[in-house]
Amino acid sequence: MFSFEIFPPKKNGSIEAVYKTLDELTDLKPDFISVTYNAGGASSAGGCPEGCSTREIVCIIKEKYHTESIAHLTCVNSTREDIDRIIGEFERYGVENVLALRGDISPDIPPKEDFHHASELISYMKRRSGLSFSGACYPEGHTESNSLDEDIENLKKKVDAGAEHLMSQLFFDNGHFYEFLEKARAAGINVPIEAGIMPCVNANQIQRMVTMCGASLPTKFTKMMARFENSPEAMRDAGIAYAIDQIIDLAANGVDGIHLYTMNNPYVAKKISKSVESVLLG
Ligand code: FAD
Repeated sequence: MFSFEIFPPKKNGSIEAVYKTLDELTDLKPDFISVTYNAGGASSAGGCPEGCSTREIVCIIKEKYHTESIAHLTCVNSTREDIDRIIGEFERYGVENVLALRGDISPDIPPKEDFHHASELISYMKRRSGLSFSGACYPEGHTESNSLDEDIENLKKKVDAGAEHLMSQLFFDNGHFYEFLEKARAAGINVPIEAGIMPCVNANQIQRMVTMCGASLPTKFTKMMARFENSPEAMRDAGIAYAIDQIIDLAANGVDGIHLYTMNNPYVAKKISKSVESVLLG
């Protein structure tokens, strides 16, 4: 399995930019493309340019590009009524696949009381729809968990609730992913688990992401960032090469799939896809 993640355009973006990205990404024939969702709900209404909500982009991917798509959805700021409305919308517009997430708890917005965890969102939606559900997983443990073992126990609840497929948080040391995979399988988690790979093409962006998600940085990676951070082209090429290296090792170890965080950058996605095509097929 080889898939991409994109995000809806920010306030000043446009639907043309979405088409341009999708023209190139769908040419690479991914198994699916997933589209992120703003935890505050901005990407579902009003906070993004006309026609560019998560749901609308998911429909474009399916209808215009005949490519499978997954809509990310968070519940931390939603009531049951909000989710009922979204289920209705999904059914009306033919959305079939959902990456069900809790979302990050913002220090400024008190979470709503109806859903505390992604597993609760999945159970609730499963009872009310025929949608298929994926879930998020964390090779180094979620930042709020006391240990990887505890996080995996909670992950099992998500799978038992109905997640049929998992997509991992980004990581830069494959060793963490293998350890996680072994523990997840030992815990009875038997659904396909895709490894999340984020090519480091911009040192500042990666620092921000890593601070948010808690991924650790191996020495090989920090040396690369330090050496090339002031040379955008060298950083981009080194970041692409690092991601390719990770993917080849993951494929050699027989992982279920690769989920590429494209950051809406088709150039990078194309470079990586072309380099690993035969490896992923073989
Ligand atoms: P949960 O599965 O609810 O887990 C959150 C924490 O609660 C973990 O520590 C877990 O161990 C614990 N927990 C879970 N279930 C239980 C339980 N039953 N009892 C006790 N503890 C429990 N965020 C966005 O806002 N928009 C996106 O589009 C988006 N896409 C993402 C895509 C991927 C592939 C990943 C990995 C993350 C994504 N995120 C996104 C980030 C995600 O919203 C955050 O990581 C969030 O903090 C946790 O969401 P979750 O669904 O994993 O939560």
